[in-house]
Amino acid sequence: MEATTPVNGQESACPPPAAVLLNPGPVNVHERVRAAMTYPDVCHREPEAAALMRRTRAKATAVCGGDENHTSVLLAGSGTAALEAAVSSVVPRDGKILVLDNGNYGERIHRIVTVHGIPEHHLEFGWMNPMDPAAVDAVLAADPQITHVGMVHHETSTGMLNPLREIGEVVARHGRSLLVDGISSVGAEEFDMAADHVDWLVGTANKCLEGLPGVSFVCARRDRLEALADVPSRTFYLDLHGHYVAQDKVGAPLFTPAVQVMYAFEEALDLMLAEGVGERIARYTDFARRLRAGFAERGLRFLLPEEQMSTSVTNVHVPDGVRYADLHDLLKDEGFVIYGVQEQVGNVFRVANMGQLATDVPDVFLAALDRVLGKLGAAGVAA
Ligand SMILES: *Cc1c(COP(=O)(O)O)cnc(C)c1O
Repeated sequence: MEATTPVNGQESACPPPAAVLLNPGPVNVHERVRAAMTYPDVCHREPEAAALMRRTRAKATAVCGGDENHTSVLLAGSGTAALEAAVSSVVPRDGKILVLDNGNYGERIHRIVTVHGIPEHHLEFGWMNPMDPAAVDAVLAADPQITHVGMVHHETSTGMLNPLREIGEVVARHGRSLLVDGISSVGAEEFDMAADHVDWLVGTANKCLEGLPGVSFVCARRDRLEALADVPSRTFYLDLHGHYVAQDKVGAPLFTPAVQVMYAFEEALDLMLAEGVGERIARYTDFARRLRAGFAERGLRFLLPEEQMSTSVTNVHVPDGVRYADLHDLLKDEGFVIYGVQEQVGNVFRVANMGQLATDVPDVFLAALDRVLGKLGAAGVAA
């Protein structure tokens, strides 16, 4: 890349070299998504910004499988912004939430609930343990105070896909409301707002929807959003009902949104809808299958049984005698960014296959991995 021009005698930021991102978001984006960032500057209170938000909300809803009864509310911020908006806005003062937790992001819902002082039953399955719908059933049967259940669909920390359909069925049978963090599953996993009984779905632009970071959203039925008028908000900025009214009724955002990132998100949603959700799931599944076959051939061990894994994240034990940091740095020299895992799961590295990746990425990456493990003298790995 070209050196950047000094500004006011200061060297301006130099872009880093392009890398293949195999971390679980942010992802490599399509050229059209990046190009959308350069659309002309707009004022967020002009009709063109309102139109952009209206279109983007409708497209996000379509990708989530919502029908004409659903809509989406956009938030400026990463996925956690929309997650906190949903969690802090939907549970009434006399309500209580059951949080299902089997990893870092389940724990994040618990932490948000704690910050806002929301009454909670925290059901911990333990990291890497599958969620048990029968345990959820038992807690709901025993505690009529519980009004909401919060869970993560794809627990990105371990790469485990949680049994949303089964749990949705249990929650619906008990007449409670289900809030799902679908931040790393929307677009890449089988998902159905109605069939899975999801009342509140949280998503973000920069994971499997292949947009840029800075915009996230909550998809829900309109009547549920309307009913939030009776639920006092716990925050000023993340008041979901306030954002809904502003975007849906007033036609102007509550605060200044990340307009340029939203242009990029709309482009990403167009690409998603053109590809088709089924096709994208097939693409991710194929990349994951090729990566996993390659890891298995090399004698590398997975953190989870393959049937528990999502389509987009594979966690692999770092071979004996190798430090994660060395593996990361040498792979980065080869042009690939891998990701670490929270210490709870041990010495493991994460390889995600989210985003716009060239078809040959699994093969090229596995070849680079062979060179790197060779250099590191990895014991017990069949090269
Ligand atoms: C990425 C992610 C989040 C949000 O993280 P941000 O850093 O706010 O984007 C939340 N939940 C899950 C399951 C995730 O994968």
